[in-house]
Amino acid sequence: MKEYDTMKLEIESKSVNEGFARAAVGAFLARLDPELEELNDIKTAVSEAVTNCIVHAYPDRIGSIHISVRVDAAGFARIAVRDRGIGITDVEQARTALFTTGGAERSGMGFTVMESFMDTVKVRSSPGTGTTVIMTRQLKRRRDARS
Ligand code: ATP
Ligand code: MG
Repeated sequence: MKEYDTMKLEIESKSVNEGFARAAVGAFLARLDPELEELNDIKTAVSEAVTNCIVHAYPDRIGSIHISVRVDAAGFARIAVRDRGIGITDVEQARTALFTTGGAERSGMGFTVMESFMDTVKVRSSPGTGTTVIMTRQLKRRRDARS
């Protein structure tokens, strides 16, 4: 048996794709028979990361969003959401609760939601190059659903 399973997905930064990305990652992780709550947590975190690509990374155009998921036999899930958009000048500031460059329409809570629903959240970004958000969460194992 393989050490881990992987999935890669490339979607366009259209808001209609946010729900698709959320459902696709959820369907992939469902093979591990996770609890509904932890699955919903991960799906919400993915949704926030993908929404950020759609809204912030490519403000004036449609660009690509790459999502990769890796899960090992022990239920350790790693999800990366990557764009090649405008990037973030100050990542620490961007991660601060209530900070937003999105004006009154946004609440500046996306990264805070990701942090509270996942075990770890890493953000790599540089202006003009794009942003990668890497999130991990250890799923509770109820049985070895992969075998
Ligand atoms: P909310 O998520 O509550 O609707 P928000 O998107 O502004 O509001 P966060 O998701 O926490 O809040 O993001 C904070 C800020 O980080 C954004 O306002 C934006 O400036 C920047 N940011 C986040 N993701 C990206 C990205 N992929 N590319 C460029 N900038 C980003
Ligand atoms: Mg956001």
